[in-house]
Amino acid sequence: MSETLLLSRYKLTTFLACRRRFQLRYLAAAAWPAAPLAVADEARLGLGQQFHQLAQRHFLGLPVQATAIDDRTLRGWWLAFARFILPEMPHGRILPELTLTIPIGRHLLHGRFDLLIIGEQNGAPFARIFDWKTGRPPDETTLRHDWQTRLYLAMLAEGGQALWGEERSPLQLEQISITYWYAAAPEKPLTIPYTATWHTQNWAEIAAIVAQIEAQQMAGSIWPLTEDRTQCRVCAYQALCGRQEVGAPALSATEGAVPLLADEETEDLRALPLEPALP
Ligand code: SF4
Repeated sequence: MSETLLLSRYKLTTFLACRRRFQLRYLAAAAWPAAPLAVADEARLGLGQQFHQLAQRHFLGLPVQATAIDDRTLRGWWLAFARFILPEMPHGRILPELTLTIPIGRHLLHGRFDLLIIGEQNGAPFARIFDWKTGRPPDETTLRHDWQTRLYLAMLAEGGQALWGEERSPLQLEQISITYWYAAAPEKPLTIPYTATWHTQNWAEIAAIVAQIEAQQMAGSIWPLTEDRTQCRVCAYQALCGRQEVGAPALSATEGAVPLLADEETEDLRALPLEPALP
C-alpha cells in the first residue's frame, strides 16, 4: 500500500503543474541548490513575515504600537490594516494561525489560516477565514479559482464542524467565507462566500486530484514529466530531467506581489525559490 500523504495547496498545485516535480520534491526529497531571491523580494518577504507576527500578536490580545514599528512600509501596512480590516472583523472566537488537517480517503488535507473567526449569528454558526497579502489583488474570478480559496473553503466545509462540536447546529456552507486583505488595496478587502453547490463540485475535483496522486503512487517508477515546458523554466529540477534547454529561470517573477507569508509558506518558498510567486 502507498504511503499516506499530507497534502497542502502547494502540493496540489505542484502535482497539477508537473507530476515528476511532485515526486522529486515531496516523495524523493531531492535537494537542489537554492538560488537566492532577488534583494527586493527578500526584503519584502521579511516584511511579510514581520507583518504576520504583528497580526498574530494583535489577535492574541497583545498590544501592537504603530509608533514602535521602525520600517515605514511595515508601519504603513499596519496602519492600513488597523483602519480598514480590523473594524470589519465579526465578533466570535478568534483563532490566529490555525492549522486544520482533515482526512480525504487515505490521505490528509492540510492548511494553515492566517486567521479564522468562528461564532454564531442569529443562532447559526459561521466561519470566516482571513488571509493577508502584499501586492495588487487579482480579480475576483482569479481568486475564486485559486487553490488556496478552493482548498481552505472545502476543508472548513468538511472539517469545520469539529470546531464547534457535533452537538451544535450544523455549519451551513453558505456561512463559510474567505476574506483576502491586500496591503496594496487596503480599503477593499475581497470576500468570497462559499455555497453548497460550489462545494459539491469543488470537493469532487479535489478528491479526483487526490485519487490521481494515489493512482500515480500505486503505479510507482518515474512519474511523468510535464509536457508544458513553460513549467520547466521555473523549476530547479531541469538538470535532473534533462530540460536545461528551456532556459534559465527568472529569479524574481513577483514584481512586488510577494505574499505575506506564514512560516509554513515561507519554508515552501525558500525550499523552491525558482517557482513563480505564490498567489
Ligand atoms: S524540469 Fe520540468 S519536467 Fe522536470 S520536474 Fe521540473 S517541471 Fe517537471
